[in-house]
Amino acid sequence: MPARAESIIVTTFQDLGLVETVLRAFQHEGYTSPTPIQAQSIPILLQGRDLLGIAQTGTGKTAAFAAPIIHRLLEENQRPLPKHVRALVLAPTRELAAQIAESFRTYGRFAKLSVGVVVGGVSLGPQREQLARGLDVLVATPGRLLDHMGTGSVKLDATKIVVLDEADHMLDLGFVVPIRRIIAKLPKVRQNLFFSATMPSEIATLAGEMLRDPVQVKVTPVATTVERIAQHIFHIETSRKREILLELLGRPEVKRTIVFTRTKRGADRVAQYLEAGNQPAAAIHGNKSQNQRQKALDAFKTGRIPTLVATDIAARGIDVDGVTHVVNFELPDVPESYVHRIGRTARAGADGAAFSLCDHEERHLLRQIEKLIRLTIPATDRRDPSIRATQPADAPGRGKPRQQQQGRGRPQQGRPGQVQAAGAAAPAQPSRRPQPGPHRQDDRPKQDNRPARANGNGHNQPQQTQGKGNGEPRRNNPAGPRPDRRPQRPAGQRAGV
Ligand code: AMP
Repeated sequence: MPARAESIIVTTFQDLGLVETVLRAFQHEGYTSPTPIQAQSIPILLQGRDLLGIAQTGTGKTAAFAAPIIHRLLEENQRPLPKHVRALVLAPTRELAAQIAESFRTYGRFAKLSVGVVVGGVSLGPQREQLARGLDVLVATPGRLLDHMGTGSVKLDATKIVVLDEADHMLDLGFVVPIRRIIAKLPKVRQNLFFSATMPSEIATLAGEMLRDPVQVKVTPVATTVERIAQHIFHIETSRKREILLELLGRPEVKRTIVFTRTKRGADRVAQYLEAGNQPAAAIHGNKSQNQRQKALDAFKTGRIPTLVATDIAARGIDVDGVTHVVNFELPDVPESYVHRIGRTARAGADGAAFSLCDHEERHLLRQIEKLIRLTIPATDRRDPSIRATQPADAPGRGKPRQQQQGRGRPQQGRPGQVQAAGAAAPAQPSRRPQPGPHRQDDRPKQDNRPARANGNGHNQPQQTQGKGNGEPRRNNPAGPRPDRRPQRPAGQRAGV
């Protein structure tokens, strides 16, 4: 029977047993104490054990795996062989891959390790060059990594640590077969780390194939984040959304904003409109080249442009400190996406606000969102009075009024009618599920019908040992996050960390 995770009571990073080089980097970042996932995972990973982490972004999970990996690589004190990689991290999207590599550089800033990124959408040449030298840490999206494996640019037979991040998102993007092909090329003796926010059966099977006697660590999802976000709905005609957006972005408290649209074209149009209205903005979505995406993200991170217009998938993995507002220019088709979107603000323990523009056609989407988060979001009716008279805001004729729809027996906690949602809304416990398909824009592989090959090393199913945690970083850090993190290096760049 697999071992259980002990309930670990650790209050300082020193207690975790990490090397001084990493402790100093954490101090440099202003991290005063480990988040729950860090407290539970780091000691296990330092022992070389496999880990099944049920957690999502915003919980501090990147540091939870990056820090012990850096520690173990330093301890081993070897140089990577040419074309070889000592630790491999697989991520579903280019942005997340770049973000993870940036975290390795941040947490390893006092170590001399090489970190590389291999993602689609950019030329193969520079990536081939960095791989040729060998890397301590490679962060890759599966499709592009397979391309390099196919040409012999990279070999995984000396890779001793492998991380699979956002596994459920990988499934959604069709990466499960490529992942199996990658895993088959890894040595049998290795340390495996597997992170997923949810555990659909296909992902549980993959975890079972990959992990050997894993310890499971689970932290509670985003409910705490939603609580801290002041949310507000504006009922508005479709044709007047842009005008109200400009007005909202002009408010003095609105400093750094991500605006979400449903489509790539919509994102472009909104960004153009804002630019024309003297409101600097950039759009980020899957039709943009990797360089354009990175440039826009860097400009946003450094504060050169205050507004980023994004589609759901493009925004995955974007972790920018100090986002004061999220604006849903259009409500998402899938209610869970609302939770992900608004979670872009209130990162790392900060507060944030989310405005949503809701036209008549989107009322049913609003109802689904409110049902999911179990609260009524305060709303203001900004529609033309003549329309208001004919179409009352909460009687759109597609179901019961919202007040009767709170479901699951919970009392309403929102404050309908309040113009500025200033305070925290009621506790809610939304759950994360894989993103829906319509706007997939990532490095998905072309259709591959070859049979999957598992590594066949007899790895067993993970044990369901549940840890504790509220999933909230920086709880004990009154200083809060550093408002500006240094801009990301372009993907694919090798750097000493
Ligand atoms: P992640 O879940 O890895 O996306 O991390 C979310 C955010 O939490 C990032 O902005 C990190 O910089 C921040 N963070 C990670 N660990 C800590 C910590 N121990 N204390 C404070 N902030 C942290």
